[in-house]
Amino acid sequence: MNIRAGWTPERQAQLEALGDPSLVGARVSVEHRGAYGLAGCAVETARLAGRFRRADAGVDWPAVGDWVAVRPEGATGGSGVIHHVLPRAGLLERKRPGANRAQAVAANVDVVFVVTTAERPPNLRRVERTLAVAAAGGARPVIVLNKVDLAADADGDLRALASVAGGARCLGCSAATGAGVDGLRGELPAGTTGALLGPSGAGKSSLVNALLGDQRLATGTVRLTDAKGRHTTTRRELIELPGGAWLIDTPGVRELGLWQAGEGIDQTFDDVTALAAACRFRDCTHRGEPGCAVASALAAGDLDEGRYASFEKLRREEAFQERQQDPRAAAASRGRSKAIHKQQRARRRVDPKLRDD
Ligand code: GDP
Ligand code: ZN
Repeated sequence: MNIRAGWTPERQAQLEALGDPSLVGARVSVEHRGAYGLAGCAVETARLAGRFRRADAGVDWPAVGDWVAVRPEGATGGSGVIHHVLPRAGLLERKRPGANRAQAVAANVDVVFVVTTAERPPNLRRVERTLAVAAAGGARPVIVLNKVDLAADADGDLRALASVAGGARCLGCSAATGAGVDGLRGELPAGTTGALLGPSGAGKSSLVNALLGDQRLATGTVRLTDAKGRHTTTRRELIELPGGAWLIDTPGVRELGLWQAGEGIDQTFDDVTALAAACRFRDCTHRGEPGCAVASALAAGDLDEGRYASFEKLRREEAFQERQQDPRAAAASRGRSKAIHKQQRARRRVDPKLRDD
């Protein structure tokens, strides 16, 4: 196994800059009650250094997919202590259901597979929401229509999905027959990280297994011990694929409440934002002002009403969430997401492979 896939010279430099030769680099493969499973080094399990727990620490706790600096301990070195989270290329997050806080879904994700099922007509509104969350997390979305073996009209479904994709690729596949799975694999060159998001039952776990092929048994479980000494055996959520890419399976992520997703919404609805930019008034609310390009497009049928209503709904949800949020946390989170987007745009400029076309 190429345990260093994704460990770039940049990350090596970040580790060395910490100036502590006893620290090694590793990647978080699962988290449970403050206990962590690691991949990419000899240290299999770890707990957090005390500095993370101080109330005034102001540092992010590690999430699945994070690269961390860990100090091996004990005679065997099989466990250790996480001392730092290395800078993130992106962070997928959602609003924690029932709370006014962010919940990290996964860090350093390059590609989000937005998984839908061909068993019934695709839920385009749900797809748009997922696209916005992916974009807000700095990831490139790819829409996946799974279960094409059961489809009544796969081409029609793919056309409908393409109409809301905002330029994201749309791929049909079947985890059951293996059709199209190579297309998904092609989106994940060695060293990159993919994650699967979609409603339960769409076939995410089946797709993980299809992508793993014969490696399925090698992914295994990890035995974790939390701070209170409780033991659990948990399935790893970060899996290394045979080709050297990583895949993050996020079981239990059903609801995708928006968290700091303004930029992600604008990116997902770039057709609507382009129209809005052409309105006569800069602060046009598109509710009857003269010279409103959005209203004209709706009247002419160039902009789908369902899509526009979806844009409005997500924007309202985002605005509501921001108003509810503690202003200091909001500012910090906005700063973080701005920095990530700036980085992302710069990278797209230099690397044509990362363009969303
Ligand atoms: P998840 O909840 O998104 O992880 O979905 P699962 O992977 O557990 O799949 C849900 C059900 O759909 C299971 O019974 C799978 O066997 C079935 N399934 C998954 N992918 C396909 C597919 O491509 N074709 C067919 N016919 N069934 C599938
Ligand atoms: Zn307008």
